[in-house]
Amino acid sequence: MKKIKTDVLIVGAGPVGLFAVFELGQLGIKSCVVDCLDEIGGQCIALYPEKPIYDIPAYPEIKAEELIINLKNQIKPFRPNFFLNQKVEKISEEIGSFNITTSKNNIINAKCILIAAGNGSFGPNRPPIENIEKFENKSIFYHIKKKSMFENKIIAIAGGGDSAVDWALELLSTAKKIFFIHRREKLRAAPSNVKKLRKLVGQKLELVIPFQLDSIIGENGVIDKLILKDLDDKKKKIEIDYFLPFFGLSTELGPIKEWELQMEKNILKVDQSTCKTSTEGIYAIGDICTYPGKLKLILTGFSEAAIAAHDCFKRVFPNKVLHFEYSTTKGVAGLK
Ligand SMILES: Cc1cc2nc3c(=O)[nH]c(=O)nc-3n(C[C@H](O)[C@H](O)[C@H](O)COP(=O)(O)OP(=O)(O)OC[C@H]3O[C@@H](n4cnc5c(N)ncnc54)[C@H](O)[C@@H]3O)c2cc1C
Repeated sequence: MKKIKTDVLIVGAGPVGLFAVFELGQLGIKSCVVDCLDEIGGQCIALYPEKPIYDIPAYPEIKAEELIINLKNQIKPFRPNFFLNQKVEKISEEIGSFNITTSKNNIINAKCILIAAGNGSFGPNRPPIENIEKFENKSIFYHIKKKSMFENKIIAIAGGGDSAVDWALELLSTAKKIFFIHRREKLRAAPSNVKKLRKLVGQKLELVIPFQLDSIIGENGVIDKLILKDLDDKKKKIEIDYFLPFFGLSTELGPIKEWELQMEKNILKVDQSTCKTSTEGIYAIGDICTYPGKLKLILTGFSEAAIAAHDCFKRVFPNKVLHFEYSTTKGVAGLK
């Protein structure tokens, strides 16, 4: 157990939480960050590290993992404390500050809380197959970190949404063969990509539709065969090296829901001009917050981080006046 004191506690080490460290740091505000994952980067690292993003200003194209590396470099001067692998659980309010307890019993005292928790803590929806956990992260992956491991391999991809279709298209050029499994004829993914996928059906791409998953044969985490069944319960065995089920994510806001903050459809309502929630001293930025016209984009979250940081200043330094300055004027505060 650790007890620490800081100015602002940031919940969530996704792109928006990371940029908040920078914006706060530029105003002389110390922060620390808690995340339930064991790695920094939120959705960018956990879900699509190798995908290029095209709408980050001034980067015509940048891979999600590169964006996170750049953000990590940008916040280095402020040396934030990271508490990973733990959720924020309880909060209690004192005069002018909060005590936040994490699931590892660390207690952080902060004057403000900045919630940048995205869609909450998330994990994959697992297919209902017996003993699936024995194969996870060995032959079964719910998200792809390194495309190169699938080169020249026989892969089964299951699901009917964008992730399943996008990854089938992405891996097809380097894989030995892809079996694309779905339980109904209609795929929910973007129509243009579904069309592309259907056009590519041939020796390297086989649609196994309508089929459902039945069981796995294999040993020591290594898949040998995947057993599928059709709507009449007729079985089909396919020999594969890897299985990639893409059945979406289950997300859970968890303890934040019990903090009695005003919400709309599981998202925190904020005042757009400050990013304040309904509780004084608690802010929400990034995918977790909403207001009229909100766009769930990284660039919107970056702007919200700047807005919230400027409002936090008043609570962290009640006796100081904030003089707005460009970074070109003041440089990077932490480097001085
Ligand atoms: C496949 C895909 C492609 C995308 N492409 C784009 C794109 O091209 N352009 C774009 O702008 N956006 C894109 N997005 C959306 C973008 O990734 C999100 O808008 C962005 O990640 C939101 O950042 P965030 O920091 O608010 O939240 P997140 O990235 O979700 O990070 C939130 C973090 O909070 C943590 N957390 C949650 N609850 C708790 C808790 N109670 N305690 C501790 N930690 C907690 C989570 O573990 C997570 O790490 C894409 C998303 C996906 C899935």
